Amino acid sequence: MRTLVVDHPLVTHKLTALRDAGSDTATFRSLTAELVTLLAYEATREMRVQPVSVTTPVGIARGVKLARPVPLIVPVLRAGIGMLDGMTRLLPMADVGFVGLRRDEESLIASTYADRLPTDLTNRDTFVLDPMLATGGTLATVIGMLVARGAASVTAICLLAAPEGLRRVEEAFAADGTGATGGTGGGPDAAPGGSVAPGGFAAPWVRVVTAAVDERLNERGYIVPGLGDAGDRLFGRV
Ligand code: URA
Repeated sequence: MRTLVVDHPLVTHKLTALRDAGSDTATFRSLTAELVTLLAYEATREMRVQPVSVTTPVGIARGVKLARPVPLIVPVLRAGIGMLDGMTRLLPMADVGFVGLRRDEESLIASTYADRLPTDLTNRDTFVLDPMLATGGTLATVIGMLVARGAASVTAICLLAAPEGLRRVEEAFAADGTGATGGTGGGPDAAPGGSVAPGGFAAPWVRVVTAAVDERLNERGYIVPGLGDAGDRLFGRV
């Protein structure tokens, strides 16, 4: 698994405003969308494309178009829904699947309550949207579901990550052919045959893209200093 922390002044500026407990729901929503679009720009850097030519008013230009099948975006319910607008702004042609996981507040263990994903993800780039990579339990489960259905690549976009969560996902998906501790190699075509994920299937290329890695988790599983409960701040306490 590889981790990319997007180091850009606009990203840090928006994240700082997002963290501010004084930001109201409307501000939090629009900042989330803007931040996701910026993160998505980096997260899609290695998407698969195919060569095409177009006729311009003055000649022929060689270029590329996104490879088929179209990418799949997977917001994790509920907070990931708040990231969907920002992502589809950049990838309007993408399909969208949904996964819902509930975290037990005592054990912090996540269980699946909704699964609207295609059964076959062969040759598809997939993008998981989950604002807070905290314990890593939810993300590891969702990545596992996508890997099991044959996704060519899985890129998780998280506004914030805790070191504990990153370690957990890294341990679960180290065998992706790019090295357990990240690095520069990889891409969907780089995974050598024989790499096997914990579930016993060939692992694709797995990556986490985030705006920052914070200090730690507190005893309730919240990221410190973090930004609080992302779902509540996006959608209210319901
Ligand atoms: N989920 C959140 O919304 N916030 C955290 O800090 C951790 C998990």
